[in-house]
Amino acid sequence: MALTNSQYNEVMRDYERQQRENRYDWQRRVEEVYKQVPQIRQLDEEIRARGAASARQALNGDEDAAHRFRGVLLDLKEQKQVLLAAAGYPADYMEMRYRCVKCRDTGYANGHKCHCFEQARSRILYDQSNIRHVLMQENFDTLSYDWYDGGKQLEHLGMTELEYMRMVVRNCQEFARSFPKKGQNLLFTGSTGVGKTFLTNCIAKALIDRYISVIYFTSQDLFELLSRYKFDRDSQEEAEDGYRHILDCEMLILDDLGTEVNNTFVSSQLFYCVNERINRHKGTIISTNLSIGMLRDAYSDRVASRIMSHYGLIPLYGGDIRMKKKNFRGLT
Ligand SMILES: [Zn+2]
Repeated sequence: MALTNSQYNEVMRDYERQQRENRYDWQRRVEEVYKQVPQIRQLDEEIRARGAASARQALNGDEDAAHRFRGVLLDLKEQKQVLLAAAGYPADYMEMRYRCVKCRDTGYANGHKCHCFEQARSRILYDQSNIRHVLMQENFDTLSYDWYDGGKQLEHLGMTELEYMRMVVRNCQEFARSFPKKGQNLLFTGSTGVGKTFLTNCIAKALIDRYISVIYFTSQDLFELLSRYKFDRDSQEEAEDGYRHILDCEMLILDDLGTEVNNTFVSSQLFYCVNERINRHKGTIISTNLSIGMLRDAYSDRVASRIMSHYGLIPLYGGDIRMKKKNFRGLT
């Protein structure tokens, strides 16, 4: 269940709004035609009267009534079409028009959710992620290996930076494809600009495209929100709404852990968040410049040990890609 109840209701309300608009729009076109071509109104009135008469006859045991009416109806409809065309209207001008023909704007077709419902769901999940625009630019399709060194061996790994990166990307794709079955949590470590945020964005987009709810926070924003929840009684409601999402979304991305202003509150909230999400079987991806040892020193033993035992660890190496890109642009 990737949508909350209120998000589901929002989607359904949008369908109801659309159905109302369809009806208004249809009535408006019908009235317009009636005004221009009064004979068409007469024909419609005749169709209604004949229909009612035929229903009465059928109730009185006249078995042929429906059959006769169908013949009359065809004839009357044909007369309508001729008049409509003569007045210069398109043939479907008096028909109801739908945004989605398949489900007639109900969201369901043949007892299943329509593809337009899935689109609406995906739109909501993107909006909720906090990184909608970034995800259009940073995803597995736009990922480039141009900035990774294919010549120099990383000695402790026995492969080049490029080979290692290809392996990491394969693992990330597999993680996103199989989530949550083969692992729910990842920790990306590495210095600034090695591609940690880019990779988390790639995974985020792949997950949202599978209708999995993802929420992105920089660690600074997350702890700010949590402290508002804790201390600011005035906006309690707003903060609680944000907070519920943080514990319940299927994937939480916590970017740049270690760059926030650290204190006892941050430390305890980080543990609460990490621990609570593990207990609720929800996924978390953390990226940080800190090593595990540094995490232990900066926060606490128990955070480091929860992460060690429940997260897949992905260290990233290499130089600052953003610097390389800048220098490259400088050369051209
Ligand atoms: Zn539809």
